[in-house]
Amino acid sequence: MSTKFNSRLASIPGYTPGVPKGQTAQDVAGSDLAQLASNESPHPPLPQVVRAISEAAASMNRYPDPDATRLRGRLAEVHEVDAGRIAVSNGSCEILLAAGDAILEPGSTVLYSWPAFSIYPNLAAMSGADEIRVPLTGDDVHNLDAMLEAITPETRLVLVCNPNNPTGTYVRADEVARFVERVPDDVTVILDEAYIEFQQLDEPAASVRLLGMHENLVVLRTFSKSHSLAGLRVGYSLSSPEFRAAVDAVRQPFSVNALAQAAATEALAHGDEIALELEASIAERERVEAGFAGIGLDTAETAANFSWVSLGERGPEIEQAVVADLAAAGIVVRPGRLLGGPGKLRISYGTREQNDRLLDALRDSMRRNS
Ligand SMILES: *Cc1c(COP(=O)(O)O)cnc(C)c1O
Repeated sequence: MSTKFNSRLASIPGYTPGVPKGQTAQDVAGSDLAQLASNESPHPPLPQVVRAISEAAASMNRYPDPDATRLRGRLAEVHEVDAGRIAVSNGSCEILLAAGDAILEPGSTVLYSWPAFSIYPNLAAMSGADEIRVPLTGDDVHNLDAMLEAITPETRLVLVCNPNNPTGTYVRADEVARFVERVPDDVTVILDEAYIEFQQLDEPAASVRLLGMHENLVVLRTFSKSHSLAGLRVGYSLSSPEFRAAVDAVRQPFSVNALAQAAATEALAHGDEIALELEASIAERERVEAGFAGIGLDTAETAANFSWVSLGERGPEIEQAVVADLAAAGIVVRPGRLLGGPGKLRISYGTREQNDRLLDALRDSMRRNS
């Protein structure tokens, strides 16, 4: 090989997809494979949203609106935030990576809790910055006091995943507010709220209200999970206008495609229907969590659309066998060892039928492996 790559490339972690090798999520969409590995919605997008995508498809000869004006306008109304504070992105991951690009450099530090979202390690690797990982508490919850203590003069960026992926645990908005108050003003705090719609302890607007008080705060949301649009890649941030300008400066101008803009704008007009789906998902959460308890498996206290399931004392030894048993039963879950939690599984909720199938297969597998 003759290409000379930069020295950072080798340290960038790869992504392991949830669906079996050589297949795409779309290939298996019609099959009865239960895809419980990527925290997607088991429901297709609303028919009105699918129609908006089809209609937008007819103008694919044109570039999309680089400012996503309509979508940002609707988001500004929904959140009662000035549109100048909103950046729409190619999935919220794009904003995480852009923040790394715009804020980090060699000699600076990014700080986050661990285990957390699997893309966070990419930020340090891609920018050449250092990272500090603060362990979760014994209950798999963010330890905000320990995170505060871990901030150094070199720290420029702090990531708080709430509810946390892969554990599902949630820190209340008043605790987050106290945390943000104590973080130095020149340290940016990104609150990654990909699952905020699934928690029932605070109004989803609680964190948005903090924006007015803290110019260093960024609230990150996505249409991927709660709005059944993972395939289109669309998310957004609410932040200071300066953060938004920085994100726009480091990424390509047309990163959010026109189908995604049309779909997300339409989805925002159907909040009531989406709220019903969220309620159904939360009801499934209670049922599936009771099912895990019935098998004798402990889980972290989840406020998301997935569970973090401990396979018990021999978990690290049996994890691979359990994952293989579930795969043989047509069920894909996320092995904890890939997420910083050996001996655990991260399992997204599927349809009622899929969840029943999962619980049966898991019960059988635990019998076989213990
Ligand atoms: C799924 C997820 C996202 C969303 O990613 P998109 O790029 O918007 O699809 C962001 N943060 C966390 C913690 C997630 O689990």
